[in-house]
Amino acid sequence: MRTRIDWKYLLGLELTDPGFHYSILSRFRDRLIEGHAELWLLDQLLERCKSSGLVRTGSDARTDSTHILSSVRKLNRNELVGETLRAALNVLSCVDPHWVEENVDVSWYWKYARRFGYPREILSKNALEAAAEEIGRDGAMLIERIWNDGAPVYLRNLPAIETLRRCWIAQFWTNNGVLRMRHAGNLPPAPNRIDSPFDIEARYCVKRSMEWVGYKVHLTEVCSPGSPHLITNVETTNAHSPDAAHVPRCQSELARRNLLPGRQFVDGSYMGSQIALESRRRHNVELIGPVKQNWHRTQVQSGYDLSSFKIDWDEHFAICPQGKKSTGWWSAKGHTGRVSIHTKFSRSDCAKCSVNQLCTKNGARNPRKLALLPREKHEWLAASRTEQRTLEWKQLYNRRAGIESTISQGVRSVGMRRSRYRGLSKTHLQNIAAACAINLQRLSDFWTGDLPAPTRVSAFAGLGDLTPFFVQLTIRDS
Ligand code: SF4
Repeated sequence: MRTRIDWKYLLGLELTDPGFHYSILSRFRDRLIEGHAELWLLDQLLERCKSSGLVRTGSDARTDSTHILSSVRKLNRNELVGETLRAALNVLSCVDPHWVEENVDVSWYWKYARRFGYPREILSKNALEAAAEEIGRDGAMLIERIWNDGAPVYLRNLPAIETLRRCWIAQFWTNNGVLRMRHAGNLPPAPNRIDSPFDIEARYCVKRSMEWVGYKVHLTEVCSPGSPHLITNVETTNAHSPDAAHVPRCQSELARRNLLPGRQFVDGSYMGSQIALESRRRHNVELIGPVKQNWHRTQVQSGYDLSSFKIDWDEHFAICPQGKKSTGWWSAKGHTGRVSIHTKFSRSDCAKCSVNQLCTKNGARNPRKLALLPREKHEWLAASRTEQRTLEWKQLYNRRAGIESTISQGVRSVGMRRSRYRGLSKTHLQNIAAACAINLQRLSDFWTGDLPAPTRVSAFAGLGDLTPFFVQLTIRDS
């Protein structure tokens, strides 16, 4: 704004205009979030595209997520407790410096004045633990003095003090009056822990071999042939939030924009019988994604899976591939409230069965048992499992793969991988702006005829048609 003539021209400013103060944009972002106006950017763009016929309801869409690193440093546990105490002391020193001078030991100035960063290669595990427990005792003493009757009440309500209190509950425990650091197995679950005092909404998460502290963003884009692949929904969640929980929220947002797809392609982490049936019932959206096959766990793929059994839902029994009838039928409710139905076969039938090695581990001792979902879910799951082994389904599902390139574009061209701001709401604002930038880029490409290049293959692979081979491999592996 101060130095570039193009921005001044765009905003209609005089060349001599000195520009704005650097903190204006930060306040502007705060105001957008306070007024719940962060979605306007995407909504307005999509509204214009809708009126031009570039996006429409009932088309195909695909969804996937990627991780977002928070804008704060990843801390080990010693650094976490040290930095949390240091942040609390800094806030207290701004709010009530006299109280700090009267209640803080002189040695603390030396200990907590500078940033924490323990050189792990020098300190042993025991030394690290002892150092953390020393910080823990100091922090506990500070909390005690703040909750003392003589201390001003407003100190207790400071967010930094609440963060300190929550962090201490998660990281320490008291054994016979002695404060101890919790061992890894004794920590509360990741959603209940604070991983940095500077961004208390960022969470630690692990996905396969990847660990990060931050958030997750879910992108949904149109994937119908012949139309620009515009992003129609962005949702930023906590890092540990399950993908499947995103589907109903995503569809509600798309319904609000009047952009519900007819089919939505997702990967296995978004799929589930409950989610897919709800999606069809509430929004008439067909959720398409792989569901887990039900190979009996003790057997090879040629064993008898659930689809080999006939279920009589009215009379409450099952018939096995050898024509035997199950002898018991009961339902159970898990701790999550999910209902499952169980049935089992007779011990004597399974012991005498000539093919029991295909069905159960030890027919004589362990007769076959079946665990079923309620009827509607079971039938949907069985039909999906059968359908997804077909060539047609595999070819249709290939349409989902393009969302990976959108994520790559988001990470490489608009810097989605790392949050520029602290907190979930500002990270979400950044992701919406990033999605709008990608949409504008795609609209420009669409209008200029610059269409995405087809997937490249090596010169040798290009000489032969390997598609049927790869499809067969995928079907066999699934
Ligand atoms: S092991 Fe039991 S349930 Fe399995 S096929 Fe044989 S008789 Fe039927």
